[in-house]
Amino acid sequence: MVLGGGTGGTLIANRLRRMLGGGVAEIVVIDQDDDHVYQPGLLFAPFGKAGPASLTRPRHRQFRPGITFRQAAVDRVDLDRNEVLLADGSLVAYDVLVIATGARLLPEETDGLTGPGWMTRVFTFYTLDGAVGLRRALAEFDGGRLAVAVMDMPVKCPVAPLEFCFLADAYFRERGIRDKVDLTYVTPLDGAFTKPVCNRELSGLLKDKGVSVITEFNTGEVDGDGGRLVSFDGREVSFDLAVVIPLHGGQAYVERSPGLGDELGFVPVDQRTLQSKARPNVFVIGDAADIPTSKAGSVAHFEGEVVARNIARYLAGEPLDAAFDGHTNCFIESGSGKALLIDFNYDTEPLTGRFPGGIGLPLLRQSRLNHLGKLAFGWLYWHVLLPGREIPGVGSRMPAAGKHLPPAAPR
Ligand SMILES: Cc1cc2nc3c(=O)[nH]c(=O)nc-3n(C[C@H](O)[C@H](O)[C@H](O)COP(=O)(O)OP(=O)(O)OC[C@H]3O[C@@H](n4cnc5c(N)ncnc54)[C@H](O)[C@@H]3O)c2cc1C
Repeated sequence: MVLGGGTGGTLIANRLRRMLGGGVAEIVVIDQDDDHVYQPGLLFAPFGKAGPASLTRPRHRQFRPGITFRQAAVDRVDLDRNEVLLADGSLVAYDVLVIATGARLLPEETDGLTGPGWMTRVFTFYTLDGAVGLRRALAEFDGGRLAVAVMDMPVKCPVAPLEFCFLADAYFRERGIRDKVDLTYVTPLDGAFTKPVCNRELSGLLKDKGVSVITEFNTGEVDGDGGRLVSFDGREVSFDLAVVIPLHGGQAYVERSPGLGDELGFVPVDQRTLQSKARPNVFVIGDAADIPTSKAGSVAHFEGEVVARNIARYLAGEPLDAAFDGHTNCFIESGSGKALLIDFNYDTEPLTGRFPGGIGLPLLRQSRLNHLGKLAFGWLYWHVLLPGREIPGVGSRMPAAGKHLPPAAPR
């Protein structure tokens, strides 16, 4: 039984169907709605380059024949009885459970964020409604300070707020009003990104594009009426329009399920096998896991191979494969038809070089090829990732070939 039919839930159900064949296992996917949104496309919606129709497809149509899709909200999991209680009151039993319910946005957890000004002067592009509303607000914006603020980590796709800044820079240039707009990026981190080499590149790019950066700003309050972000230590950033990445947590049902989640509602797992720490017959894929890597669709894709193999091994009574290395891969749209690419894992930070080998896409460098890669990712998502197929030439493990590895530290 797979809880959640988003990126991770869909691809693992399809992979398992292919791997186990009919008759070996009955595969059921449960999700609360039937609209599968291509979330990476939300970045482009505020700039008029994508809309609800192009980003959304029926969830039930993404599954291979033989998979049962059930539309229902999960209320809680009873780990002792191997049962899931649904919000409609029904109980469903499982032999193996895959948690794929992702992360939840928690805008109401920040004081004032959903108060006056929410969706008129303060927006998020992390939801379809927010991204569409922001499109109107951006079109009407003709000058002043636009603050792009991350409330706290972890967030899905941590480079997306930076990409938003780059695209906003290009958008206002195209409209001929860039000199009237003060673009300010507000982050709780001590730099634009967590990893040093990547931080250096992205900070340089923000500077080149005239984006001011305010670091170590932990927003405690958003005053939409007054146009102010207020940090816990009393600093203030004024704005005319704010684009906010709300706090993220796990799903509420995880918190209601004794023994399943941590205090944030994420599910603790063995970071190499992706088996939950709660029970051996529970596996986790995607943003719901508590692992120290980015919350990204590419991660769910790379995890899929390991989770499917380990479920097959668990069913056969064999030892699990500790093969997941934290592989993450993200295109970073930098505006004007260019993008960067980063590729890293638990042990290796994003480095310069090429991906997936010596003659591949340039890493940590703006290029038109990477922009085309970002656009192609949309097609790959529906036709390769979700059906649970491999991307030719790109394995689950992070490739070391093509990367400029730093010299080994002297002994
Ligand atoms: C703006 C934006 C840009 C992004 N850009 C990129 C990018 O460029 N590259 C990249 O790799 N990733 C990107 N991501 C991240 C990527 O979309 C997510 O990491 C990925 O979708 C996670 O997959 P998942 O299966 O864990 O969760 P999701 O795909 O979010 O699926 C979770 C599913 O669980 C269901 N669910 C939740 N609670 C319940 C419940 N109680 N009962 C029943 N069903 C429930 C939901 O309805 C949902 O369908 C971006 C995300 C955003 C928001």
